[in-house]
Amino acid sequence: ATPLAVMVGTGKAATSGILIRSAEALETAGKLDTIVLDKTGTITAGHPSLTDVVAFGDTNPMVMLGLATAAEADSEHPLASAIVEGAANRHAEMTKAQSFESITGQGVRAIIDGRVVLVGNARLLQGAGVDDSVFADQARTLSSNGKTAMLVAIDGNPAGLLGVADSIKEDSIEAVAELRRLGLEVIMLTGDAQLTAQAVARQVGIDKVLAEVRPEDKAAEIGRLQSEGRRVAMVGDGINDAPALAKADVGLAIGTGTDVAIEAADVTLMSGSLAGVCIAIGVSRATMRNIR
Ligand code: ADP
Ligand code: MG
Repeated sequence: ATPLAVMVGTGKAATSGILIRSAEALETAGKLDTIVLDKTGTITAGHPSLTDVVAFGDTNPMVMLGLATAAEADSEHPLASAIVEGAANRHAEMTKAQSFESITGQGVRAIIDGRVVLVGNARLLQGAGVDDSVFADQARTLSSNGKTAMLVAIDGNPAGLLGVADSIKEDSIEAVAELRRLGLEVIMLTGDAQLTAQAVARQVGIDKVLAEVRPEDKAAEIGRLQSEGRRVAMVGDGINDAPALAKADVGLAIGTGTDVAIEAADVTLMSGSLAGVCIAIGVSRATMRNIR
C-alpha cells in the first residue's frame, strides 16, 4: 500500500481504538486465515471470581482458604486475585507467607507458619511429588462447567480444591462468529485444563482447542500452524502470551492486558474487545483493495 493509504487505514483503525504499529501489520491483517485466541483475559473478562471451596477429609475449608490466600497474596496472576478477593468476602483468616515462589503456568509454592503450601494445577503437584489422583473427580466437575480448578496441597498432602469462574466478555461470541464469516479459522490456545478450555470454547463457538500449553510452548504452537502454510494472528493479554504475539504474523494485544504483551504485539486493541480483531481485518482489506 502507498504510505498515504497506510496512513488513512491506520487512522481509521485508531478511531475505533485499534493501534496498528506498522504498515506491514496493517497489510498482513487482511491476508490472515487463522486466528489464535488466548482464553483468560482475551476471550474471558480476566476477572475470575472464587465460586467453590472444597476441602478433603478433616481439612477445615476456611483454614485451607486462608493458607491458599497467603500463598497467592504476592502473585500477579488473575487467579490469585480471585482467591484473595473470595477469601476476603468469606472473612477467611489471613496469615502471611514466609517465602513465596511463583511457577509460571503452574501456580505458587509458599511457606506459611512452617507449612509448605502449593496452589496450582496438576502439573505443579506432580512436580512436587504429590499424588494428584484424589483431586480428579472434583476437578472434572469444576472443569466441565468451564471453571478453573486449583488444587491445594499442604505439606505434601492433598487438602482440597478452589474453583474459579471467569465470565466471557459480552462481545466474544459475536466476534468469533464474525471472524468465521470473514473466512478465518478460530483456535483457542490456553494454559488452562483441557475440559475447562473445551467448556469455554463451546460457549463462544470455537471448535479447535489447544489446552494445557505451557507458556514457553505457546510460540511453538504458533510456529507449527505457520509451518502448515497458514497466516496466523495471535490475540493475547498476558506475559505468557508475549512470545506467541511476537511469533505470529500479526500479534494483537488486549489493551487492558500486561505491558509486556502490548510491547510484543503489532496491534493494540484499546477497548479489549475481540470485535477489534474483525475491524482491523476489515480496515486492512479495504486499504489493500484501494491500492490495487
Ligand atoms: P492462560 O493461558 O489461560 O492465561 P496460564 O498459562 O497463566 O493460563 O496458567 C495456566 C494454568 O496454571 C492455570 O490455568 C492454573 O491452573 C495454573 N496457575 C497459573 N498461575 C497460578 C496461580 N497464581 N495460582 C494458581 N494456579 C495458577
Ligand atoms: Mg491470558
